[in-house]
Amino acid sequence: TSFEDAGLHPAMQANVRLCGYRVPTPIQAYAIPAVLTGHDLIAVAQTGSGKTAAFFIPVLSKLMGKAKKLAAPRPNIAAPGFALEGNTVRAEPLVLVIVPTRELAYQIFDEARRLCYRSMLRPCVVYGGGPVRNQQEELQKGCDILIGTPGRLIDFMGRPHVLSLNRVRYTIIDEADELLHSDWEAEFSQLLAGADANEHADHRYMMFSATFNKYCRQLARKFLSADHVRIR
Ligand code: AMP
Repeated sequence: TSFEDAGLHPAMQANVRLCGYRVPTPIQAYAIPAVLTGHDLIAVAQTGSGKTAAFFIPVLSKLMGKAKKLAAPRPNIAAPGFALEGNTVRAEPLVLVIVPTRELAYQIFDEARRLCYRSMLRPCVVYGGGPVRNQQEELQKGCDILIGTPGRLIDFMGRPHVLSLNRVRYTIIDEADELLHSDWEAEFSQLLAGADANEHADHRYMMFSATFNKYCRQLARKFLSADHVRIR
């Protein structure tokens, strides 16, 4: 399999080339067709396997085809005379990536930026320890792809007119084992419940983890559809 034959949106093909990716890594070779055909995914994957592009390439490629209709409205931040309140939008991302650490969040955001290039899709990143105000301003400029750590995501969801998970179509859980046995556990469950209760009927889930213990398997049973694809 190659990126050229994968049936990707032309803008995504161009972005993959710009990233310098020539041959799909093994996880990409399995994940890209599975996600393009609408399957949930569970993958045993380490950092370095190319797992980030494995989910972003097919997910963003699919969204690029509908971006005109789906992308968040952009407030006209250059317009003079507008009060800030009247000039922002609530973030209603289409893709939610939940990660355990801010380093990982930033790394994934960087990849999202490169793969969203020349599309109408706008990525944002939020994580604990970073300045709430800047992150909130970025969110309110319009956010289609959101990467974040559980605590900060919950924090923003609790603020009026900042973040809603109502439009999420793809939820990606990265380093699931770390999320499950961290201090995040309660926030993580709350987040998934929020995303799961949303209005989009065909909500897809992808789970990545270095190990698959019984808690990961429970999580997979709860959220993944019966016909999910397993990669190991
Ligand atoms: P990840 O496992 O997602 O942390 O990715 C590890 C590194 O591999 C990142 O620096 C990516 O930019 C890079 N990468 C991802 N896919 C490919 C590919 N198909 N060919 C070459 N490098 C890649």
